[in-house]
Amino acid sequence: MPIADFPRYPLTFGPSPVHHLKRLSQHLGGAQVWAKREDVSSGLAFGGNKVRKLEYIVPDVLASGADTLVSIGGYQSNHTRQVAAVAAHLGLKCRLVQEKWVPWDDPLNDKVGNILLSRMMGADSRLDPAGFDIGIRDSWKQAIDEVEKAGGRPYPIPAGASEHPLGGLGFANWAFEVAEQEKRLGVHFDTIVVCTVTGSTHAGMIAGFAALEELTGVRRRVLGVDASATLDTTREQVARIARNTAELIELGRDLRDDEITVLEGWAGEFYGIPVESTMNAIALGAQLEAMITDPVYEGKSLAGLIDLVRSGDIGRDSTVLYAHLGGQPAINAYHRLWN
Ligand SMILES: *Cc1c(COP(=O)(O)O)cnc(C)c1O
Repeated sequence: MPIADFPRYPLTFGPSPVHHLKRLSQHLGGAQVWAKREDVSSGLAFGGNKVRKLEYIVPDVLASGADTLVSIGGYQSNHTRQVAAVAAHLGLKCRLVQEKWVPWDDPLNDKVGNILLSRMMGADSRLDPAGFDIGIRDSWKQAIDEVEKAGGRPYPIPAGASEHPLGGLGFANWAFEVAEQEKRLGVHFDTIVVCTVTGSTHAGMIAGFAALEELTGVRRRVLGVDASATLDTTREQVARIARNTAELIELGRDLRDDEITVLEGWAGEFYGIPVESTMNAIALGAQLEAMITDPVYEGKSLAGLIDLVRSGDIGRDSTVLYAHLGGQPAINAYHRLWN
């Protein structure tokens, strides 16, 4: 079925804004850099990319008759905060498993930012000492069982909503939204740069831009910048979800290997721990554009973009679109990086 025919429950204000980062472009002295802003696209608790994925999952939630959304992430998960927001918005309950995905020992890490917001919105958020893993977890299955045993009707949403069969649709549609905005703005983005961890944001874009290429014949580069620091797992997950999403939207051909690009070099050693390039990118975004990025995700993908523009890998005559996926509430847990 074409992407336009899938049911979509509106949780965003409309297309996310696209704007030119003039001072950053000038500073880098290469390609023109623009941003598309998922961080300001929804009124639900600071928005972000998971809201857009959930727009395509909510119709299934409502059809299922569930009364409780059950999901999982790290202590400072943006995803679980967005699930809590959607639950509050729909009048559903929310049970969250928050694992110690990040070896960040700040005493506020499990208290401020995203987790605070989830609790404020009424989610039953419980901590679990397990470490980082983007796969399907026993703790999450257990939470689903517990909701059921207590007489509830759970609707399971996996980490990042990525392993959900419909998880790639939100960002497949994003590609078509970009094409519409290009017409209006009179600009063409030959390269897209996006942060990738659980994979369905990047994977959805790959499927969506492939479908667009079938219609227009125009090829673009959709570059995922890994922030998981578990590259093989993320790469495998991106490829699998991209192919699944391509099939769902009836691409009608297999994806080429050159369409699935997950770049390494900016994740550092651990998911959630910034490195020097992350901190430099965050400073540039903030000081040249007042565009706030976080140390877990967007600072790492912005660092990738900056290096690719500086090295000429993204050429001088390119116009590149940076997908800003949100994530700012987490900066509170990282206060000591600036204090
Ligand atoms: C979840 C998230 C990502 C990564 O998206 P995936 O679909 O999990 O790959 C990037 N940036 C932010 C701010 C996120 O919350």
